[in-house]
Amino acid sequence: MSTTTPTCPQCTLEDNHIQDAQHVCNICGYEWPANIAETSPDEDVIRDSNGTPLADGDTVMIIKDLKVKGGSNALKVGTKIKNIRLRSGDHDIEAGSYMLKSEFLRKVS
Ligand SMILES: [Zn+2]
Repeated sequence: MSTTTPTCPQCTLEDNHIQDAQHVCNICGYEWPANIAETSPDEDVIRDSNGTPLADGDTVMIIKDLKVKGGSNALKVGTKIKNIRLRSGDHDIEAGSYMLKSEFLRKVS
């Protein structure tokens, strides 16, 4: 739950309370859904192991030996991969021919 007090969309004052998942304004009586204030704008951001947001074209370093699916090779700790692409899904980083998880990567600046 957010600890910040939302402002009333109608009278723009912060004097309100939550009742039955609704914000209720104490001033003008306006009601609005409480979950509006809880949606996070960062929901779609892919972050590395440090919580740094990643972007297309970034260079990352592998922080853990990784088995490569379908191959006998492994990616070693410290391997740098340039020009990553963000993808959605369990393996959310495309790095050349590899699909990796962002939690095992660290952005290199
Ligand atoms: Zn109000």
